[in-house]
Amino acid sequence: MSELKILKERERQVHRNGVEAFSMACETKSTAGSVSQRACVFCGSRVVLYPVADALHLVHGPIGCATYTWDIRGALSSGPQLHRLSFSTDLVEEQVVFGGEKKLYRSLIDLIDQHAPAAAFVYATCIVGIIGDDVDAVCRTVSKEKGIPVIPVHSEGFKGTKKDGYQAACNALFQLVGTGKTEGISPVSINILGEFNIGGEAWMIEEYYQRMGVEVVSVLTGDSRVEKIKRSHGASLNVVQCSGAMLQLALMMEKKFGIPYIRVSYFGIEDTAQALYDVAAHFDDHPDIMKATQELVKGEIKKIQPDLRAFKKDLTGKKAAIYVGGAFKAFSLIKALRYLGMTTVLVGSQTGNSEDYRILKEMCDRGTVIVDDSNPLELSEYIIEKEADLFIGGVKERPIAYKMGIGFCDHNHERKTPLAGFQGMHNFAKEVYATVTSPVWQFAPSRDKGFMDSKTSLL
Ligand code: SF4
Repeated sequence: MSELKILKERERQVHRNGVEAFSMACETKSTAGSVSQRACVFCGSRVVLYPVADALHLVHGPIGCATYTWDIRGALSSGPQLHRLSFSTDLVEEQVVFGGEKKLYRSLIDLIDQHAPAAAFVYATCIVGIIGDDVDAVCRTVSKEKGIPVIPVHSEGFKGTKKDGYQAACNALFQLVGTGKTEGISPVSINILGEFNIGGEAWMIEEYYQRMGVEVVSVLTGDSRVEKIKRSHGASLNVVQCSGAMLQLALMMEKKFGIPYIRVSYFGIEDTAQALYDVAAHFDDHPDIMKATQELVKGEIKKIQPDLRAFKKDLTGKKAAIYVGGAFKAFSLIKALRYLGMTTVLVGSQTGNSEDYRILKEMCDRGTVIVDDSNPLELSEYIIEKEADLFIGGVKERPIAYKMGIGFCDHNHERKTPLAGFQGMHNFAKEVYATVTSPVWQFAPSRDKGFMDSKTSLL
């Protein structure tokens, strides 16, 4: 087998577990020459804010940036669909030379008149940072004139990694938090942070809490409404799922409003049950909540267990590769795959920190390859080397899996099936089973001997 030549600058971002000393580098800018799977700062903030369904989302930049926005996530809404319209100021040479503030102002006024949004988010892209438009000033003026929050999102693509985009989104949301009325909110109440309702997960999770007797004040940002975000500081606890994206907001709310937070995952049986028990334990002066949670967990597991056992029979011994945005999701995926009898041979994330990678190291078997901010060449090479049967990732990982001739499960942007909670675990197992056991892979070129020598032509 040919040896993969990892770029020298990336050597410390790849680790073979248990085989070499652990000193993983992470949270750095992507290496020039490495075709990173990461998106830009703007995309980071866009994916977090996009599901706010009654807000106007205006991309201030050239039209190309807006291709990152149209239905970037399925993010379902139970009401308004304004978030699914993609607006751009379409900056061209004239604005690049003379400034884009006038065009931004006109666009905002027209769009607000036309769509009557509850708030507007204005995303600053690379070129806006370069030409120096005063986006804050335009937003202030329009907000005054139109009487709605018009919030600048400082997400200039070049100024960091996707993680900086999450921070910019949290800063934008924080401008809304605390501006609404909190009357009538129960002391047994939570906000769900870092759940984006891609396939209806927020609704499933909200229903669990309802059955437990816990009020959900706001979901940030799945199926979200501006008014709910404004009053989210009235909740007693923040329950943070996608911590990469939303932990910063939880920290800001803790500092300003004294709201404690816990980190959870709603993926897999173990982690979903733990999440619900952790919330119930927080309200331990209401023993009825823990009782209701125990009954809920028991009942839900009973419903799905027979099918999971059947899937496990055929999946036991199969190998999986995982590459996701935030590492916290990878922890749950490893556990869920183990539950199905599968091992993880490759795992990585776009935005993990050193603590995340330390936990991954502890969780993974000897020989598992752990990667940070990887690229298609590395991922495909390790998939072949480790003989993975399944790749779990997002829209950019799907073609890699198919080119390598193995099964794929979308755990990110494009899927339409909810993968959270107990029913989500059933959906996940069903999907993994269908793709891994598909007869189509026997015809893939990667299964032929000699593929490794020709693989670069396929990338
Ligand atoms: S890197 Fe810059 S130009 Fe490219 S999509 Fe992001 S904001 Fe737009």
